[in-house]
Amino acid sequence: MNPSGTVSSGTAGTAQSRDPVRLRPAGGNAASATGLTKIYGHGDTRVYALDDVSVDFRRGEFTAIMGPSGSGKSTLMHCLAGLDAPTSGSVRIADTELTGLSDKKMTQLRRDRIGFVFQSFNLVPTLTALENITLPIDIAGRKPDRDWLDNVIDTLGLRNRLSHRPAELSGGQQQRVACARALAGRPEIIFGDEPTGNLDSRSSAEVLAILRNSVTHLGQTVVLVTHDPRAAGYADRVVFLADGRIVDELRSPTADRVLDRMKHLEGI
Ligand code: ADP
Repeated sequence: MNPSGTVSSGTAGTAQSRDPVRLRPAGGNAASATGLTKIYGHGDTRVYALDDVSVDFRRGEFTAIMGPSGSGKSTLMHCLAGLDAPTSGSVRIADTELTGLSDKKMTQLRRDRIGFVFQSFNLVPTLTALENITLPIDIAGRKPDRDWLDNVIDTLGLRNRLSHRPAELSGGQQQRVACARALAGRPEIIFGDEPTGNLDSRSSAEVLAILRNSVTHLGQTVVLVTHDPRAAGYADRVVFLADGRIVDELRSPTADRVLDRMKHLEGI
């Protein structure tokens, strides 16, 4: 931990001296799924993408979701984040049950309480880095918390890039902007879908360190879908899926141990 308790990107940031600010007290679940089943298709073409999945994501923990291709990772993340509706079962973000929420309430919940970091960055090309970072807050009509925003910008090493448009930034810088956007609103939980999939190994390490430090130092909750054992090695816990079911779990993972489990699951 850096002395000021601020988020630090390791190689990317310049931490400033501020009091530690944590998001919210540890404990409780940031998200949970109970008996989650998702079926695609009908009759002979029926696919159980998720088959009775129950899993909790504790506040202040970094979880990686891994599994062979087609095992249901993306479907699980999309159901947890309210981007897709399960066939049955329930999803909660903190104390809010997602089933039955109106489209409007679901959109508000995603905007106000969930942060996203996607493989493809998903920045708005015509906006500057700063405008991209504050976009969800602006759309919500909220006033940004300047101290928090400054903290995030400085520690992610983006201070001298704020007026640049995405095309003027490297892939790693764009993903750091996306991380800053996710952190800026202090969401209940951040979901990452292969966020390092388009990055070189140095930029990947920077982005993963940012997410790791946001958990360790700020109490952020992060859930990451990845196929990369090195990325999973940054997590506190790895949940393994196969054929739409949770089949294994690893605490305090290392890349080597994750690789071993994956080889086992893929029958290599
Ligand atoms: P993963 O992310 O682990 O690769 P997915 O969650 O994308 O797995 O997919 C799980 C299963 O559900 C796969 O068999 C996939 O083919 C199927 N599936 C996913 N999305 C759809 C869809 N929109 N329509 C039909 N089948 C789907």
